[in-house]
Amino acid sequence: MNKKEVQLILKQLGIIPNKMLGQNFLTDKNVVKKIIKFSEVSQNDIILEIGPGLGILTGELADLSKKIYGIEIDNRLCSYLKDKLSIYDNIEIIHGDVLDIELPNHNKVISNIPYTITGPLIDKIFFNINSPKGILLLEKSIANRIFLSGNYKDYSRISIGVNAFMKPVLRSDISRQSFYPIPKIELSLIKIVPRDDIHPFLSEKDSINFFLKFVAGIMPYKNKNIVNGIGYFLKNLNANHHTREKILEILYKNNFENKKVFSFNIEELIEISKLFYY
Ligand code: SAM
Repeated sequence: MNKKEVQLILKQLGIIPNKMLGQNFLTDKNVVKKIIKFSEVSQNDIILEIGPGLGILTGELADLSKKIYGIEIDNRLCSYLKDKLSIYDNIEIIHGDVLDIELPNHNKVISNIPYTITGPLIDKIFFNINSPKGILLLEKSIANRIFLSGNYKDYSRISIGVNAFMKPVLRSDISRQSFYPIPKIELSLIKIVPRDDIHPFLSEKDSINFFLKFVAGIMPYKNKNIVNGIGYFLKNLNANHHTREKILEILYKNNFENKKVFSFNIEELIEISKLFYY
């Protein structure tokens, strides 16, 4: 499906690409090939495709996998896909908002994701134990944060969250010209796989939620000493029952120095969050 074909189908369907839904459709066969290569799909794979759009990837993935679920929010695209892909008995198109629905079981997520929901989508799919593998086309600036350079100053909630659960393994920058309409942002294709050594603290929903809240709470203060970050975090939680002295005492007792937030690695941040879990 090249740019002309995509434009023609959209016109026939009466669809004007919707920015709010991140509707930038792939028009480059070479990028499709690259996604398939990154995905290493096998006949055992149950794939979740978020936002199949016009199905440029979906049919190709169906040929290689056991089952593919495509979740698409745009009803007009759903009708088109159901008709176009009806020859496949292993494709199920589900109409809905991926952030709202209960997801079917799957072991791989392959998606040119709607960039408008990247953050909450990553939260929902990957910040869990037993996460699927992910092959994702997303904003280059987010790919940069996920592929840590060792410079902790660049760390954000998304870097820490993803790297606590997942191992980033492959990436490739993709030209903006490969989409219609051409997006304003730069894009990258990445592959992330679940870590086999996830910290035991991250094995329950409540502690996972606390850890993510803790990271979100201290990251705005990443250039400050951790005692300040934790102080602000607890204050914002209305859990201001620890004085600065008490926070320092807890840190020192557990052999943590009061260094800049950005200078702690992920395992240390998990350990520290555990100290303040209640
Ligand atoms: N996969 C197609 C491709 O590569 O050409 C389309 C990708 S386009 C970047 C994102 C797709 O996600 C669109 O089809 C859009 O309608 C759909 N979408 C946007 N928000 C969604 C949501 N919350 N849940 C499910 N699908 C969504």
